[in-house]
Amino acid sequence: MSSRRDFLQRLTGSAITLPFIGAYSAAAAKNTVIQSAPDAPVLKVAIMGLGSYGTRVAEAMQACKRAKLTGVISGTPSKIKAWQGRYNIAEKNCYNYENFDSIKDNPDIDVVYVITPNGLHHDQVIRVANAGKHVISEKPMTLNAKLGEEMVAACKKANVKLLVGYRMHFEPKTLEIIRQRKEGDFGKILFFQGLSGFIIGDPTQWRLNKQLSGGGAMMDIGIYSINGSRYMIGEEPVWVTAQETKTNPDKFKEGIDETIQFQLGFPGGAVASCLSTYSLNNLDRFFLDGTDGFAELFPSTGYGPIEGRTSKGELTQPHVTHQTVQMDEMAAILLDGKQPIVPVDGEEAVKDLKIIDAIYLAAKTGKKIDL
Ligand code: NAD
Repeated sequence: MSSRRDFLQRLTGSAITLPFIGAYSAAAAKNTVIQSAPDAPVLKVAIMGLGSYGTRVAEAMQACKRAKLTGVISGTPSKIKAWQGRYNIAEKNCYNYENFDSIKDNPDIDVVYVITPNGLHHDQVIRVANAGKHVISEKPMTLNAKLGEEMVAACKKANVKLLVGYRMHFEPKTLEIIRQRKEGDFGKILFFQGLSGFIIGDPTQWRLNKQLSGGGAMMDIGIYSINGSRYMIGEEPVWVTAQETKTNPDKFKEGIDETIQFQLGFPGGAVASCLSTYSLNNLDRFFLDGTDGFAELFPSTGYGPIEGRTSKGELTQPHVTHQTVQMDEMAAILLDGKQPIVPVDGEEAVKDLKIIDAIYLAAKTGKKIDL
């Protein structure tokens, strides 16, 4: 199993180009689950930022029924050439970071998927919106809630949709747990545990640069426990407490969190207890407990296969390539107005960013922060 954690540990820099992996797209092809009419329109996608995750999304999209890679935006001409060859992308659909505003005149592109370092998303998303194209931003959508609200407002003003790459919102075992919880199978939910972490490699990568990352493990991997606590419990938290520990201040400089333990309180009485870290592997687990039953996912948010069970038995939904399903579902959201079971819009991302802001404040002040 290729997990994101293993992958990131092997990273040696921020601008790595992955070799194209044929087996991956074959697996992606097998795992497509979207059913659509043969004449359903196809979403024309440009990817901005041709790094490791952009490469993964592009490969997975080859198996999409309703989304197709038609353009690229990159600062590296050699990468553009390689992608043109690999994905048959026309020269007129290739842009750099200086000229991509002219995408507005390009009918071959419906949406731009921004897959650059976190600190760049805000300005890039707003430029895409101002060019009149829909935008998908990678997570975290930006560095804090205020910037997130500016992005939502800019997209509203430009009359384009803003989505965020929350791939777990389309993952079948996750959705089955949400279904069972909505059915009341677990009774009154009182507890969630989210463990999110991996040992991060190269200390010079952008993930450990405050300006580009906005923080440390919390911005990158801890956000999965925040977001997961919300969709697993099905409520919005009302308070936060948090404690930070740092064992390696040389690697994790001021403003880059190594480990934060945090607790979220929910209006129905549930408490979430979560760990976010860049210093431990094997931390990818969700556990939800209610008065009448439980649900468990381990691994819970890696690229899969996701594994899990509930008090009713093993979860047997098939493994899917997350990014293939995500892009097909996002095509349906953008082209048909489909409503996802768990939202993936800019407002959803702002909710996570407000919680992240509160966690950082709670960790700094030692106080319980009301949301
Ligand atoms: P990466 O370093 O592999 O790729 C980043 C890309 O941005 C590179 O192509 C790089 O050249 C480009 N770039 C443009 N301007 C840059 C600058 N000023 N500094 C550094 N790079 C610059 O990173 P990644 O792992 O692909 O992550 C990109 C985004 O995707 C991040 O927001 C990350 O959180 C997100 N991500 C999401 C998932 C997921 O599962 N949803 C997984 C991995 C990454």
